Amino acid sequence: MSNSDKIYTKENPKKPVRTNSGVTPLTVVLAPRKCNHGTCIYCPGGDYVPQSYTDKSPAVMRALSLNFDVRKQVQSRLDTLEKMGHSTEKIELIVIGGTFLQYPLDYQYDYIKGCYEVLNGVSSLTLVEAQKINETAKHRIVAMCIENRPDNCSIEEIKRMRDYGATRVEIGVQILDDEIYKKTARGHTINDVILASQRLKDAGFKLGYHIMPGLPYSNIEKDLEKFRLVFDDENFRPDQLKIYPCQIVEDAPLAKMYKRINYQTYTDEEIKKVLSEMMKLIPNYCRVMRVMREIPKEKMIGNVASTSIRKEVEDELKKENSDIKEIRIREVGFNVKELKSDRKMIITEYLSSGGKEFFIEIVNSDNILFGLLRLRFPKENFLDELKGCSIVREIHVYGKALNLGEKGKDSQHLGFGKDLILEAEKISKLNGYKKIAVISGVGVREYYRKFGYSSIGTYMIKSI
Ligand code: SF4
Repeated sequence: MSNSDKIYTKENPKKPVRTNSGVTPLTVVLAPRKCNHGTCIYCPGGDYVPQSYTDKSPAVMRALSLNFDVRKQVQSRLDTLEKMGHSTEKIELIVIGGTFLQYPLDYQYDYIKGCYEVLNGVSSLTLVEAQKINETAKHRIVAMCIENRPDNCSIEEIKRMRDYGATRVEIGVQILDDEIYKKTARGHTINDVILASQRLKDAGFKLGYHIMPGLPYSNIEKDLEKFRLVFDDENFRPDQLKIYPCQIVEDAPLAKMYKRINYQTYTDEEIKKVLSEMMKLIPNYCRVMRVMREIPKEKMIGNVASTSIRKEVEDELKKENSDIKEIRIREVGFNVKELKSDRKMIITEYLSSGGKEFFIEIVNSDNILFGLLRLRFPKENFLDELKGCSIVREIHVYGKALNLGEKGKDSQHLGFGKDLILEAEKISKLNGYKKIAVISGVGVREYYRKFGYSSIGTYMIKSI
């Protein structure tokens, strides 16, 4: 890895911000359906609630009360968000529950089309038409996340996710160990994780891994040894993590077998130890999105870990002055003390899944993060429209979610995005690329048009 510092000259805000994201998440839940491979031993759900969730999680309870009708789910969430005073112009749609890509194709297309239609306020004949309307609608989908399995990332499936407008994919990785995959009935191998990671990154997706310490047949030492691989081995290197220590949930197969296999969940102290070591291993280009699942206590057997563990671990690490590089802990939205007003651009280059990544950040001298961009020189351009292109996989400017056109006091809408894009174009050109592509949520296409990008296939592309 190499770092090159560039002085960043933008005039900057002095005031801290209290909110931490530029977009408003809107979660929709799939109708219950068993995964094709069977059931991973720790996974609840199945017949009446979607796999991997219980009927006590708030999003699932909402969806259950609406009979999993996606149009009603979007409408009801939109109404609630508006009532609560949240901005609803820039939406990140998050599809959860089961393995979406395994549902019948017509269900998948209608599900996604339904989300766009409700946000548009009008019905459409086709998904493409609904997306076109959404480009300039009041409620735009600027990002879309699909939870998926590593063995559901074929080229055809990746194209389909792009057709839907997805920009981020989270895959269940849990632990990089084929033996444990077999014993926990995961139904895929490490090789599937390697292939999925490469294809998803080459197609420009932002890639998240779900990691599960404390699985049966593992221990703290093994968890950490395998976790080191996630970043030491360039075949992996995800952009984001969700760390969910294994718990015994009432309806999961593990609940019936844990005594027989002599399994115990980690204690809070053990979870803290693993988490704290993991945090120290996470590089500056990776964000920990969440730690611990939101599963109510009454659904659990064995130790019910405290949901405030992340905060406790982070506070401890700060007290020890540990050198934590992870993104979330450095975001301006989570740092409300007096902010230093100097800014610079730092570029980290690293190899990743056979390609090369440039992680471009805008930070101050306390390493507080104001914006980032991920540029990739892919290993393979397997999608026609991406032939000969470098690809921008993410641009994120931190700060409070603002409505489109609204002027911000913090880093949103102050031109940080533009500076990051110009830098990505410059790096691509210097390295011989003649075209640059951006994976763009449908609702951000207009923004890129202002910078000379045009829609080609499902991407925004510019000659440079
Ligand atoms: S793949 Fe995910 S949703 Fe499917 S059974 Fe395993 S944990 Fe549950």
